[in-house]
Amino acid sequence: MIKLLYSIDEGYIPVVVCDICGRRIKDGLMAAAVYQIWDLADGDMADVLHAHLGDCQAEAETRLGGQVGWDHLSRHLLLMLAPIAGIDIDKIREVDQLNSILMFGRADAIEKK
Ligand SMILES: [Zn+2]
Repeated sequence: MIKLLYSIDEGYIPVVVCDICGRRIKDGLMAAAVYQIWDLADGDMADVLHAHLGDCQAEAETRLGGQVGWDHLSRHLLLMLAPIAGIDIDKIREVDQLNSILMFGRADAIEKK
């Protein structure tokens, strides 16, 4: 979930908190957006839990029950914010490709244009 962290020096800062353990998620590549994937029709919205990778993610999958999917939180948040913030979706894809390189260390993850 999203909360506001208050800092005397910086004011209110939006942060993502793990829906399972309640601790702040500081690295979007080390966290997941876990979502329901069954019985969805066009236009339906699935419930999503934000969780640290590992035990928190496993618990999120259990709580949602049955068939679930997941995505790295960094990608999930970028795709969510793009239409709200007016961010070019092609820029999101570039970040997605960068994430692939960071995660797998493969230069070939970048599509040749
Ligand atoms: Zn957690």
